[in-house]
Amino acid sequence: MSVKLSSPQIMELEHHYGAHNYHPLPVVLSKGEGPLVWDVEGKEYYDFLSAYSAVNQGHCHPAIVDAMVEQARRITLTSRAFYNDQLGPYEKFVTEYFGYEKVLPMNSGAEADETALKLCRRWAYDKKGIPEDKARIICCEGNFHGRTITIISMSNDPDSYAGFGPFTPGFDKIPYNDINALAEALKDPNVAGFIVEPIQGEAGVFVPDEGYLKKAYDLCKANNVLFIADEVQTGIARTGKLLACDHEGVRPDILILGKALSGGVFPVSAVLADNEIMLTIKPGEHGSTFGGNPIACSVAIAALTVVKDEKLAERAEYLGKIFRDEMRAFKSEMVELVRGKGLLNAVIIRPKNGKQAWDVCLKMAENGVLAKPTHQHIIRFAPPLVITEVQLRDAIERIKKSILTFE
Ligand code: PLP
Repeated sequence: MSVKLSSPQIMELEHHYGAHNYHPLPVVLSKGEGPLVWDVEGKEYYDFLSAYSAVNQGHCHPAIVDAMVEQARRITLTSRAFYNDQLGPYEKFVTEYFGYEKVLPMNSGAEADETALKLCRRWAYDKKGIPEDKARIICCEGNFHGRTITIISMSNDPDSYAGFGPFTPGFDKIPYNDINALAEALKDPNVAGFIVEPIQGEAGVFVPDEGYLKKAYDLCKANNVLFIADEVQTGIARTGKLLACDHEGVRPDILILGKALSGGVFPVSAVLADNEIMLTIKPGEHGSTFGGNPIACSVAIAALTVVKDEKLAERAEYLGKIFRDEMRAFKSEMVELVRGKGLLNAVIIRPKNGKQAWDVCLKMAENGVLAKPTHQHIIRFAPPLVITEVQLRDAIERIKKSILTFE
């Protein structure tokens, strides 16, 4: 018989045997259902992180889990050396779902971002006619696109890049939400692409000015530059539309998806583009052993079907307004600002008596709500989109109560 370990024992194991590349809240989860999770001692919480917006469809959604289990019983992995019977149907489904001619399947968000950067460079040489090795890609300060060496080469956050050089060249950083800076950067004829998060999630849920994305897209078009949207965190209904770019009617030339593409059940990511871009990469020039595996394909179809069937974008839009209205009406010296779109929101915490966002998160956990600070003073609130209005209002009361204990 196996001995059941307590939360402190499990945390100690991680500390002792695992790399120290995360600083988790001291909560050990062992079960999830919809917007709720339970720790090993049986305490119940609302999950207000959703694994960084991967679990938009809710924990252990039965339709998604069934798709995974059924597929796992038949065949799990073939590699792309052979065809599998799930990939073609998934590719048809996902391209029609998002309105693109082609998809390139990968696993993690970072890999999908890397794929987009490679596609952009290849397009620059084959189609735009930029001289070899001269292609430049514009990125934004405050970005978060993942953890690979190339991706951190775009970062201006020392936590991401410091001590990991030398870095990949070819990127020009401009301030986020600054259309004039983009216009200036686009003057360089060797610019191939502009990569942007429609809302900067990791930076602290920075929502750009209305019209920024559309203006940026139009500027890219006028300069024959690819507009690349990293919707790994904002996509798949999180912000109240299927894609955050939909708020401004922008259709990215290259669309990057991950996280909720699988409902958090399995690592699935994707890059979508039309033939003119996607077909510049030829057999043998890019790939991944697990990318496009049969489980990922059947899981992603199930996860995307749930998004439409359960009207998750509409729910996020409706519930997000309630969250912001309630938190903005709440009077507390510690709440400096509330911002966000749909159910991707952040509360900026003004420290009081030495108490910071981390202390607020600990208190919220005590009161049954799990969220995590991003940077020192910002708390992101992003529950699964299946949360009910009654549950959301209950969670909001717990959040307020937690903050008030520091008043
Ligand atoms: N892009 C964005 C916008 C993200 O928020 C993240 C992760 O938080 C990534 C890329 C990286 O995804 P992954 O952790 O799956 O590599």
